[in-house]
Amino acid sequence: MTPITTIGHYSDCCVFIKRDDLIPFSFGGNKVRKAIGFFDEIDAGAYDCVVTYGSSSSNHCRIVANLSAMRGLPCDIISPEETSVDTYNRKFMELFCANITVVPVAQVRQQIDDTMMRLRQSGKRPYFIPGGGHGIIGTHAYVQCYEEIRQWEKENNCHFSRIYLASGTGTTQAGLICGQLMTGDERTIIGISIARRLPYGRDVIVSSVQEYLKYHHMVIPMEAVQRSTVFLDDYIGNGYGSTNELINRTILESMIQSGIPLDHTYTGKAFYGMTSHLRCSKLKGENILFLHTGGTPLFFDDMNQINGGVMCEYFTSKCRNA
Ligand SMILES: *Cc1c(COP(=O)(O)O)cnc(C)c1O
Repeated sequence: MTPITTIGHYSDCCVFIKRDDLIPFSFGGNKVRKAIGFFDEIDAGAYDCVVTYGSSSSNHCRIVANLSAMRGLPCDIISPEETSVDTYNRKFMELFCANITVVPVAQVRQQIDDTMMRLRQSGKRPYFIPGGGHGIIGTHAYVQCYEEIRQWEKENNCHFSRIYLASGTGTTQAGLICGQLMTGDERTIIGISIARRLPYGRDVIVSSVQEYLKYHHMVIPMEAVQRSTVFLDDYIGNGYGSTNELINRTILESMIQSGIPLDHTYTGKAFYGMTSHLRCSKLKGENILFLHTGGTPLFFDDMNQINGGVMCEYFTSKCRNA
């Protein structure tokens, strides 16, 4: 159970934050929650190496490399060259001795197949984890997270009318939606897309929800699944990993006002998206939850970019306004 605390008022709503960034393993984050399920399967089976894929900013790859190294399992990471920059996540992957193969994004699929084949031919038993921890196992991790949210609401006599989160592959959001559909709770779960456009990004979430419900023999009308899947692509900017002044400012403000690190690829973009969306929504006096999905090492990449001058300027303008 990760902590939920209030961080103040935005547009007449009281905003709470659920700190999945504080999951106590390797800087936490949703990729830990998801990866645990995959590694339970690895531990139960006769696997002797792990294969996954993701960019150099991928928290998923860092976590999978760490959990593999812990077990002494060799880990292969296939990474698209288009999103390969020097990041702390990449440094961690190297620290965990992951074998990183960088190829053009169009060749990633083929490279994964080739790697699995090569490992099998050399007598190995590789376990493949989809990028970002996508799939039923990853979805299940966030059905459990949804249960934690409900339990917190019950214990604190509080209801969140909306839950906002950063949505990438949409697995995290799919899990929350499954949790909501299974309990019939009244609220809106809003995914702020960090890269994918409509309708594709939303379609993927709808399929993930259906796949999970089908696997667990649950019958929920398609119409309800569609209605519950809210995915906004208004805050993507120039795509995955892009940033701007407003997002950088959001990151700075969050760190100064709440001591909570965000990053420009995921949580900073989503938090900025949430506050903008709330401003347009004209809600009054409602409780809103922001799910902090982690990615703390990315915050340090941002710190290398955001200079102290901006920070001081922020302080002086704040004092002037006070
Ligand atoms: C991967 C990631 C996301 C997106 O999660 P999905 O389940 O792929 O939608 C959001 N935030 C952080 C910090 C992430 O690492």
